[in-house]
Amino acid sequence: MKTARETREIIDRLEAQHPDADTELHFRTAFELLVATMLSAQSTDQRVNMVTPALFTRYPDAGTLARATPSELEPQIHSTGFFRAKSKALIGMATALVAEHGGEVPASMDALVALPGVGRKTANVVLGHALGVPGLPVDRHVLRVSNRIGIAESDDPEVVEAQLCAVLPKARWTRSSDTLILHGRRICKPTPRCTECAIEDECVFARAASRPAPDRKARPATSARRRRRRS
Ligand code: SF4
Repeated sequence: MKTARETREIIDRLEAQHPDADTELHFRTAFELLVATMLSAQSTDQRVNMVTPALFTRYPDAGTLARATPSELEPQIHSTGFFRAKSKALIGMATALVAEHGGEVPASMDALVALPGVGRKTANVVLGHALGVPGLPVDRHVLRVSNRIGIAESDDPEVVEAQLCAVLPKARWTRSSDTLILHGRRICKPTPRCTECAIEDECVFARAASRPAPDRKARPATSARRRRRRS
């Protein structure tokens, strides 16, 4: 795995390639970002951004959303997918915010992940982008890209989060995640576009891919030599 210094330099270069990296979800408050991030699961930020303006007009805060019924909410979020589960989670989350936090979004990881439907990735998004608390969300893009480059080594998002946080200053956590997400969306896609990548010379995956394949013709010749020696 890359050293801390190498990791920071790689992130520097990726930030230079993606100077506009930020969350693509539209929001004005921590509550709106929490709702938008929950809706973005198994969906796209663009799709969520189409749904949220009307949703936030109708439910501007936790109190109004807590009073919503699934039959009211489901049609409004239908296009983001998994609308029944999301509706249940959103109403549960809003109800817990009202009951336990005076309707405000708490600025702590422990309190956020205790809310219905809120996992570590969602909590980190809200902490880092809306509450000024350093957070490094690890989604499927961060997981794929960081493992390919060699700045992390695990299939477990929580382990990758810990590995990256250990070598990056807290002030860089959120932007580093945004940068890796954008790199995964634009360049290091499931089929990567390595020739367009700013850190191709440093990437473990790219180096392995460019290594020459073993010379298959040599093996039968060697076996033939062994057979001749035995006979
Ligand atoms: S070189 Fe290729 S595999 Fe490596 S980070 Fe860049 S796009 Fe991804």
